[in-house]
Amino acid sequence: MANFYRDNDDIRFLFRHTDVGGLAALCEDNFKFSSKFDYAPADVEEAIQNYDMVLESLGQLSADFIAPRAEDVDREGNTLNEDGSVTYAKGMRESLEKLAQAEVMGFTLPYRFGGLNFPNLVYSMAIEIVSRADAALMNIFGLQGIAETINAFASEEIKQKYLHDFTAGKVTGAMVLTEPDAGSDLQSVKLRAFEDDKGNWFLHGVKRFITNGCGDVLLVLARSEPDRAGGLGLSLFVCDRGPTVHIRRLEDKLGIHGSPTCEIFFDNTPCELIGERQRGLVTYVMSLMNGARIEIGAQSVGIAEAAFRVARDYAATRQQFGVAIEKLPAVRDMLIDMKTAIEAGRALLYETSRVVDMEVGYARRLECDSRLRGNDIKNRGNDSGGKEEARQSKNESRKYRRYAAMLTPMSKYYCSEMCNKVAYDSIQALGGSGYMRDYACERHARDARITTIYEGTSQLQIVAAVRRVCSGTAEKFITELAQQSYEPEMKDLLEKLGEGTEQLKSSVAFVKEQGAEYMDLYGRALVDMAIDLINGYLFCGQASTTVDMEVATSGDNGQADNGVVAMRERKAKIARRYITKNASKIAGLTKLIGTGDKSTFTDYEVLIGPVAAE
Ligand SMILES: Cc1cc2nc3c(=O)[nH]c(=O)nc-3n(C[C@H](O)[C@H](O)[C@H](O)COP(=O)(O)OP(=O)(O)OC[C@H]3O[C@@H](n4cnc5c(N)ncnc54)[C@H](O)[C@@H]3O)c2cc1C
Repeated sequence: MANFYRDNDDIRFLFRHTDVGGLAALCEDNFKFSSKFDYAPADVEEAIQNYDMVLESLGQLSADFIAPRAEDVDREGNTLNEDGSVTYAKGMRESLEKLAQAEVMGFTLPYRFGGLNFPNLVYSMAIEIVSRADAALMNIFGLQGIAETINAFASEEIKQKYLHDFTAGKVTGAMVLTEPDAGSDLQSVKLRAFEDDKGNWFLHGVKRFITNGCGDVLLVLARSEPDRAGGLGLSLFVCDRGPTVHIRRLEDKLGIHGSPTCEIFFDNTPCELIGERQRGLVTYVMSLMNGARIEIGAQSVGIAEAAFRVARDYAATRQQFGVAIEKLPAVRDMLIDMKTAIEAGRALLYETSRVVDMEVGYARRLECDSRLRGNDIKNRGNDSGGKEEARQSKNESRKYRRYAAMLTPMSKYYCSEMCNKVAYDSIQALGGSGYMRDYACERHARDARITTIYEGTSQLQIVAAVRRVCSGTAEKFITELAQQSYEPEMKDLLEKLGEGTEQLKSSVAFVKEQGAEYMDLYGRALVDMAIDLINGYLFCGQASTTVDMEVATSGDNGQADNGVVAMRERKAKIARRYITKNASKIAGLTKLIGTGDKSTFTDYEVLIGPVAAE
């Protein structure tokens, strides 16, 4: 039986290489839930076994059930019925039913709502696996962030009303933010939220481009303060799909055909406020979107993996000039670059997920400590040991929050751009056949295209990440990575990374001298440099792993496995190739930034020419 978890050496390796046990201890709050819920693990080993088992069964479901339906789902799409309801493609309905039966619709939600309480890292692995099978299905499977937002910020009553149904797979949701005049700039959202005399809230207005807008539970960003412009006039609301929620159209789009993209008209729709007024965008949607960005990063890695595999298999069998095309330098170089880029994206994404887990874990511990200390102080006066622990948790929590705020947009940006390149190269590796619908790579390329756009475009991710690169967060994070212990054979590579770090520092200093506009202009170059350095260290870490694992190598003519190699040896080769290639790229970007070229500002009118005449 095929299995998208078992057959992926890199995911299985990273599962063992990363400190999943440490994350489990944080998530399980030292395994205190096991006395209350029979399926909560009692120790680290049991937790790891649970994660492994769920990934195993999801891997099998993805390979055997979901993937074989993906092509039909893509062709069939969704239907907007006359009564305003939406019907998913048949395969989509069947796959969603299977996912609900597998009890994986509440990956990170607490046990008390029927969730699995898994770390984000394992959720990222799961999303990647599902996306490799069907990227469109992931858009509904991956909407679990809606339930997480309700869990994090809504009242207990709202949580009880919705969360059990989410984890049971009885309802799906939608994240309803975008409007015709408010896309990247969500501060200009206009959809009106108003209260009646009894304090009941209602929504009125239009939203567009809403994934699964036909879902049962809608989280809606709306203007609750009519006299207040900008983000502070916005609040977040939850409502059910009911007679006042009208799906006006389904978008006819390039890819992810299985995922309905809706325009919605809210006609005085009853709703409930989530958390506090005016914190809708600045706190709740930011948190929702940060989670969603990691999910799109995972979706991107899954699509890239699927596209790569089509190209890899084809290149082994397609003969031209009397040899398999994988023997030709240009083709084999492209294939290795695709594979390396996927592993780099995965390394960055999983590290980001781990950092988010640390952030959430410490924040939770802090909250719990302060509750306990509150009781303690009442019972027996002040406790200085407890205070010291709380201070440490607070510092750790802050540190991880800063790192997560930088790594999240970096991951979304890197993985989605990588996925587009890999999917296009996959078509290239197949030549004319790649352009035909006979092979899945054309679907993967169409599905890939959205990943750099939704949940914030690449440009917006760069805006978010570059602030952190220039404020010293990247430098601190890279320094922490550099201080870890590595195998002696990594020495020359670490030196190269050290040189690159100096180049990044001097580029940041130069950009700061030039001002904010220059920072925006060269933001991409700075973020690229930082990502390449981080990935370089992550690869060196993987090459210095203590995990004892052997992986198959390619056979001659790509026919069969020829032998095995230790994963650490393989990763050492990946690290060498990645760091060597990127060292010259980093040096080039440093030179480019240092030119001080501002022609984008000074010569725009001359270079661009006029807009088309009416
Ligand atoms: C298939 C699909 C599904 C979607 N699903 C959802 C959903 O479920 N919920 C939801 O709320 N929304 C959803 N969206 C909307 C999506 O999030 C927006 O399309 C996206 O944020 C971009 O907004 P926009 O389309 O208005 O483009 P614009 O904001 O108009 O951007 C146009 C261009 O300008 C650039 N740009 C804009 N501002 C800046 C800046 N400050 N700096 C640099 N460049 C900038 C952008 O990068 C882009 O290249 C979906 C969109 C699509 C296509």
